[in-house]
Amino acid sequence: MGDRDRVLIVGAGPTGLTAALELTRQGRSVTIVERNAVVTPLAKAVGISSHSLDLLHPCGVAERLLAEGIRLQTVFISVEGELIGAIDLSLIPHRYNFLLSLPQSRTEQIMVDRLAELGVQVRRNTEFVGLAQRDDDVEVTLRDARGESAETCAYVFGADGSHSATRQAAGIGFDGYIHERLWSIADVEIPAWSDPEATAHAFLHAGGDVAFIIPIAPRRYRIISNTRDAVARVPGLAGMEKRVLLVDTFHVSVKLATAYREGRVFIGGDAAHVHSPVGGRGMNLGIEDAVCFARCLGADTLDAYNAERHPVGARWIRFSERFLSMAQTQSTALAAARNVALRAITSIPALQRVGLSRVAGVTE
Ligand SMILES: Cc1cc2nc3c(=O)[nH]c(=O)nc-3n(C[C@H](O)[C@H](O)[C@H](O)COP(=O)(O)OP(=O)(O)OC[C@H]3O[C@@H](n4cnc5c(N)ncnc54)[C@H](O)[C@@H]3O)c2cc1C
Repeated sequence: MGDRDRVLIVGAGPTGLTAALELTRQGRSVTIVERNAVVTPLAKAVGISSHSLDLLHPCGVAERLLAEGIRLQTVFISVEGELIGAIDLSLIPHRYNFLLSLPQSRTEQIMVDRLAELGVQVRRNTEFVGLAQRDDDVEVTLRDARGESAETCAYVFGADGSHSATRQAAGIGFDGYIHERLWSIADVEIPAWSDPEATAHAFLHAGGDVAFIIPIAPRRYRIISNTRDAVARVPGLAGMEKRVLLVDTFHVSVKLATAYREGRVFIGGDAAHVHSPVGGRGMNLGIEDAVCFARCLGADTLDAYNAERHPVGARWIRFSERFLSMAQTQSTALAAARNVALRAITSIPALQRVGLSRVAGVTE
């Protein structure tokens, strides 16, 4: 296929890299531009779903992720220090009946390496600054060390994150709100953390504070909390020897693009939807968007992209918001009802399977 069919992908995060891998596999001409000089050094998203692993099989990435990641089998749930149950991830109705934990920095590097093997290099230090749509193509303006230049392509796929310049240039709205609570994350080395490697923990405290601890490498853990100090909200950690590798705080934005397509411009991943990290689907939804876009382009059914993916983004936002408000409720009565429900869910495998199918991307 020639340059007239070329797809220009903006952003080399997990969404853009997945789109580049899939389109290259189809034999499309692809250019992927990224304003950063190197792959993110940050762990960011750490959970890769069963469905994402399926989707990343044909391009040769899934095996490499599986070889490096930790296969999480159990999530223990404690309320005010008392263990009330455990989610058994082996109940996920899928051949990958676990949640694969791997820092996003490694996921992206594996994708970049595989893409290079397929003959496509990420064009780094190159920023998308604008576009003009015409009937048969799109003229895109890019900026690199030599200044601004214009390039022509058939379609643009904007995978440039929540502040997406592509989305703005296409005139697509991004509606929603920002939660007031300040969240924090910490990546910590804890030599004496006694849990087996394949387990994560959720701690629900009185007053709506929550914390999760997830292994991301041997003796290394991701802690995430809806409080300023994630480490302080993990019971028993205060007195333990530990090395904090990274701390950060953020507010949770909940936003959905008004559409995933405008003419020849398409958006996916965080450019199209952002929500709380509860449920761990952020990066996975982006991978799914990218594969769907490539499939629709290959099958010449581009209208189906927005029709298929926009409702999934909207549904997942509703689901993760419900999940979040249940986890961080400040009402004693609602917390008591939630705890009864959690005890029931964790002791009835059929109920666990329903929720796990959703989190794993097996059903929407
Ligand atoms: C601290 C942190 C922790 C997180 N934890 C989790 C988690 O536990 N689970 C989860 O599912 N998700 C988590 N997320 C969210 C997850 O990282 C995102 O959902 C995921 O990165 C989205 O991938 P993406 O490729 O759509 O966008 P991004 O990863 O944001 O990638 C966008 C890329 O586009 C590039 N770019 C931006 N603008 C331009 C431009 N104009 N020109 C060229 N390039 C551009 C950026 O440099 C970037 O590389 C976390 C995020 C953060 C920040």
